[in-house]
Amino acid sequence: MSQIIQAIRGMNDILPNDAELWEEFEALVRDWLSAYGYRPIRMPLVEATPLFARAIGEVTDIVEKEMYSFTDSLNDDSLTLRPEGTASCVRAVLQHNLLYDGPKKLWYMGPMFRHERPQKGRYRQFHQVGVEALGLAGPDIDAEQILMCARLWDDMGLEGIRLEINSLGNLEERQDHRKALIDYLTQHESLLDADARRRLHSNPLRILDTKNPDMQDIVEQAPKLMDYLGEASLKHYEGVQALLKNAGIHARLNPRLVRGLDYYNLTVFEWVTDQLGAQGTVCAGGRYDGLVSQLGGKPAPACGFAMGIERLLALWTDQGYQHEKPSPDVYLVHQGEAAQAAAFKVAERLRDAAFAVQLHCGGGSFKSQMKRADASGAILAVIIGDDEAVAGEVSIKPLRESGEQRRIAADDAAIAVSEFILGTDASSDADNKRNEHGSV
Ligand code: ATP
Ligand code: MG
Repeated sequence: MSQIIQAIRGMNDILPNDAELWEEFEALVRDWLSAYGYRPIRMPLVEATPLFARAIGEVTDIVEKEMYSFTDSLNDDSLTLRPEGTASCVRAVLQHNLLYDGPKKLWYMGPMFRHERPQKGRYRQFHQVGVEALGLAGPDIDAEQILMCARLWDDMGLEGIRLEINSLGNLEERQDHRKALIDYLTQHESLLDADARRRLHSNPLRILDTKNPDMQDIVEQAPKLMDYLGEASLKHYEGVQALLKNAGIHARLNPRLVRGLDYYNLTVFEWVTDQLGAQGTVCAGGRYDGLVSQLGGKPAPACGFAMGIERLLALWTDQGYQHEKPSPDVYLVHQGEAAQAAAFKVAERLRDAAFAVQLHCGGGSFKSQMKRADASGAILAVIIGDDEAVAGEVSIKPLRESGEQRRIAADDAAIAVSEFILGTDASSDADNKRNEHGSV
């Protein structure tokens, strides 16, 4: 036999047990976002490469070494699998002129692609929920985005995710700081590692983010961006802090917090946990007032964040969350040709009444079918043999509690199942049942 082809390293299958957990999370996320007035948007997974180079920055890790880029053989265009969603989202907003009638609050969810070294919490295809507010300038939206994250952690029952915030000021302030930083780092060039030397003139701010223990001292003493912020930037930062305090959210002010993407200014934030090892940032974001004009639009302020779904779900299950495994209401057992025809009809009737029905497929003895019925977790077995088929009847047998098997007219199956499961009359409409019974 030839070898089985494997999935690409760092790109994971999400198998049914996990996929159900994902769907639960996604349902939670939809409700949560609509409660804050965000509307969904869906962008393509592939974009023109220059979009990311222009938005994220030429000398960022993402653009320098993490993008899956390829040439479209039809026209030689350079295309890229999206490494993040903000650039695409802003592109879509501009392309369709969505800001013509005022600010927009948008969200999306889906796969992102980065060519990184796969490890726990770091994958090559990973998934994000992204949230973007465009056209809003004040610290109020920054603060609301942060506190809405806190509510999601709460909704999920997650604990131990702490908030770090910082302000990156405006462009001019960053440039003044950058000059001072380059001067300082140049004076200490002999102490810099290769990575830092490479970034010294291209992206010195990122050097402050180094994980190299030998460089912590020099980084600690470096000029702080905070000392270069002007009045307006400080006021914005204080505004965010005041609103967070008012909402009872504790933020650690981290003057060394920078982001790996160039488009950020003013507020930046991260939600971090110690419980996931090295990959502890579950959500990150901030303000990116320059990006809309950078991508060719009329200047508009913006603020957003993205959370890593894999990391959040790992934390959710690590902290003991177990999702409910769905099982059918009814398992339909049948034997013989006439019984099979009747079973197909009865199954559809039950589904009309909004019950989840697993119709046995593949034949086999009653005994083996009943084993399957038990294993399915169904509440009831509905059984149709030759006798029942001829008489236009079905037998109903409780599977999860003791109770007699009883025979009823096939036409009454939905009512009988309803009485058993819900204690109500199935003639009430299917929507009713759905509401009462959840979406099993
Ligand atoms: P990191 O510092 O962990 O590389 P980042 O700054 O590159 O993160 P962002 O681009 O801000 O991350 O993405 C937002 C979130 O998406 C991260 O906080 C993280 O939860 C998640 N994320 C980013 N890259 C990956 C990846 N390769 N695998 C899994 N999740 C990721
Ligand atoms: Mg990264």
